[in-house]
Amino acid sequence: MVVVDGFAGRDIGVLGLARSGRAAGAALRAGGARAIGWDDSAKVRTAVEGEIPLVAPDRPEWDRVAALVLSPGIPHSFPKPHPLVERARAAGVEIIGDLELLGRAQPLARYVGITGTNGKSTTTALIGHILRAAGITAEIGGNLGTPALALAPLGRGGVYVLEASSYQLELLSSLVFDVAVLLNITPDHLDRHGGMAGYIAAKQRIFDRQGAEATAVIGIDDPICAAICARMQAAGRQRTVPISVKEPAPGGVYVDRGWLVDALDDRPERVLDLAAAERLPGTHNWQNAVAAYAAARRIGVSAAPAAAAIRSFPGLAHRQELVDTIDGVRYINDSKATNADASEKALICYDAIYWIAGGLAKAGGIAPLAPYFGRLRHAFLIGNATEEFAATLDGKVPYTRCGELAAAVAAAAERARGDGVPGAVVLLSPACASFDQFSDFEARGDRFRDLVAALHSAAAGSR
Ligand code: ADP
Repeated sequence: MVVVDGFAGRDIGVLGLARSGRAAGAALRAGGARAIGWDDSAKVRTAVEGEIPLVAPDRPEWDRVAALVLSPGIPHSFPKPHPLVERARAAGVEIIGDLELLGRAQPLARYVGITGTNGKSTTTALIGHILRAAGITAEIGGNLGTPALALAPLGRGGVYVLEASSYQLELLSSLVFDVAVLLNITPDHLDRHGGMAGYIAAKQRIFDRQGAEATAVIGIDDPICAAICARMQAAGRQRTVPISVKEPAPGGVYVDRGWLVDALDDRPERVLDLAAAERLPGTHNWQNAVAAYAAARRIGVSAAPAAAAIRSFPGLAHRQELVDTIDGVRYINDSKATNADASEKALICYDAIYWIAGGLAKAGGIAPLAPYFGRLRHAFLIGNATEEFAATLDGKVPYTRCGELAAAVAAAAERARGDGVPGAVVLLSPACASFDQFSDFEARGDRFRDLVAALHSAAAGSR
């Protein structure tokens, strides 16, 4: 845990006590601050009982706080600020986030920040993997995995690799990212930012305060980020590194016919056949790979070890995670795909798919996936979305109503084995939220893994 001593002897409020707020409270108290806390959820309050004094928002104690530490989940502007945020603003009290506290507590470490609409977690984990493989001490967290203030203290020479949501970026006031990565921007979470302009502005804050020594890595494959990149290159405040999977990016890193090309010093060199990066399938993952490569190179890793580490990346759980291969059939856990857009990324990667889908459908369902229906050998439907998805598939893709995941895995395994098609995959990529049958997408993916492990044992037993 990082110790935050900048508020020693002072009162400080922590609003939101789930993961990151809980870690912030502990880090502040360890640094001698008198921290009080609140969370609107009774369940969360019970979980932190005894760790931090809980003080209701209408109490006068909140008027005494020197700063308000805000968890990323809590609205500070749109759709409506939390009452404690309004009160702090009215009183001129500083509002601060956990990444900013980390930056102040660990001024000698270096910082890599990653943001974007999609691919943040994968890119963050991959950068961490490359740095560690190259012998650099790195801590990986933020919005992904371990909250920032629960990471180990690093000091000089260490690198914090932090996934930063737009909400977290809005709460930064002094942290400078040595390398800041903006992957892509597509419409998302607009409600929290008052529309697209607010969302774009929040994402760009990852580059705030960067000077000549710092690097901005920016995806140029969507029009919004391409425009940001062009503007920043023209301004020349920091070193701007464009990345692309679609076109050559002079001075940057890009993909050409499946190869990662390093053009950082303007002499393009092919350094890695991305087909060898087995745990990063699909061009969306190539974008994550070129971004991570560029970031690691700018931190000081040379080309060959960076390429080798991309090849050896084990992948992240629940994102097109290869769970097992049984009797020639690959079992892939893509439980993180909670909408059609994310499932599309997986469907595009395989030709003979036994598809497990369903749960709580999002608006539009799976209609946008129609261009990929030809790749589906059979669909196995689960959860609330069953009838809606069945109607979309009717007459186009054969399907079975399975009800629950266990029945779907059993049916998919049997059919895939029976068909004996080369390259067959059983793919859990539900295009749905999980809450009708599971606590979250992780629980759904874990269950899939357990079911596949049972299949493995059964297959081994029958040999
Ligand atoms: P995030 O942390 O931004 O949610 P993840 O790395 O967890 O991103 O990936 C979540 C899902 O988003 C993946 O399962 C995949 O479907 C999709 N995805 C991953 N990387 C990208 C990318 N670079 N561009 C578009 N979609 C992506």
